[in-house]
Amino acid sequence: MKLAILGATGSIGQSALNLAEAFPDKIEISALACGRKVGLLAPAVARHRPRVAAVYGPEECGQLREILIDLGVNPLPEILCGPEGQISAAAQSGADVVLSAIAGRAGLLPTLASVRAGLTIALANKESLVCGGELIMPLAAQSGAEIRPVDSEHSAIFQILGGLSGRHIRRLILTASGGPFRGLKLEDLEKVTVEEALSHPRWSMGQKITCDSATMMTKGFELIEAHHLFNLPYDRLEVAVHPQSVVHSIVEYHDGSQMHQAGPTDMRLSIAYALSHPERWPLLPQSPNPGLVNYFPLELPRYAFNQWHGHLTFEEPDRETFRALALAEEAGRVGGTAPAILCSANEEAVDLFISGAIGFTDIIRLVEQVMEALPAEALTSIDQVVALGHEAGRLTKSFSLDLRR
Ligand code: NAD
Ligand code: MG
Repeated sequence: MKLAILGATGSIGQSALNLAEAFPDKIEISALACGRKVGLLAPAVARHRPRVAAVYGPEECGQLREILIDLGVNPLPEILCGPEGQISAAAQSGADVVLSAIAGRAGLLPTLASVRAGLTIALANKESLVCGGELIMPLAAQSGAEIRPVDSEHSAIFQILGGLSGRHIRRLILTASGGPFRGLKLEDLEKVTVEEALSHPRWSMGQKITCDSATMMTKGFELIEAHHLFNLPYDRLEVAVHPQSVVHSIVEYHDGSQMHQAGPTDMRLSIAYALSHPERWPLLPQSPNPGLVNYFPLELPRYAFNQWHGHLTFEEPDRETFRALALAEEAGRVGGTAPAILCSANEEAVDLFISGAIGFTDIIRLVEQVMEALPAEALTSIDQVVALGHEAGRLTKSFSLDLRR
């Protein structure tokens, strides 16, 4: 396959590049894109020689060109920048599969371009479906684009379904680790630090999603994502806190049978499945690999069944303390522009928290304020989503001035 990786310097992007190293006979890289970390992108460009490389802005363009010349890359790839560059990397680099792994709302337009182009999209960027799912899913049906989830919970469901449609599902149970603050109460959360919020007990991920896991906003986003991906109403979507993060989600079929998918907490598994579906690539050391050329196995940790035997627990989420979950569920049910407002206000508030401007509990306080200030409307266009995103971000900043420490 010809693969374009957006967000190539991020946690998901680097895992995907690791897969490309391990399976050179399966993956040919046609585009690599990132934001500002050109120093990390350059060696991958030199190694995989994509046709297109895209970066944040003109300054990063110049930096990348210089580093590539120093590395002796000749001919140079087409080097693009800005949102247009990300869109071209996705939809005009000759890729047939796009890994959409930019963090945050910036992932929306490149995902949409890939959908419009009718490509296969390995979707990590959950914000795309949260902000624009009501528009993206019908567009995918029109263009023939196939959206395969990378998010571990949705990948679990996709793996369990193995090609069956969502209409066979009675109920989905998304598992949640509970994040670093599981068991704490609101008054404890008032005091937590940025460092504590950014240390996830189970998964190693980018900063924004790690912070969203600490508030549990990420699980709310995932409910909205599941609603769109599997076409299910919210009363058939549930969350179970499962601190061991061994079971990645549960599907209950109409006959009452429940299927659980379990595995190591390593995103390479779900990225690989999104690329290989319906087949599976041998990721474990010493896997049998008939017919694979240049094969070398990844150091994927094995799911240690014996270690977990008797120790797997599932509990109700605490929606009072982790209000983000209830807020996102509500926004999902309201639909229209509500999830986009939620997503944009949250992104701005998370940035403010990480930069030290506001406290941890202020994140959700601000999101609630912005949701109240901007009533939901019907969703009619992506331009509307983008404009509302700016407005929600502006309001979040402005409301935060009253909270600054
Ligand atoms: P990350 O912060 O590690 O990486 C983000 C990537 O996006 C980087 O390559 C960065 O350069 C790029 N980027 C950021 N802003 C950009 C912009 N304006 N233009 C172009 N590129 C930009 O994030 P991550 O953890 O890899 O997560 C990526 C996405 O995948 C997120 O939407 C996240 O919710 C989702 N996801 C991640 C995980 C995980 O385990 N990391 C799991 C499930 C879902
Ligand atoms: Mg997830």
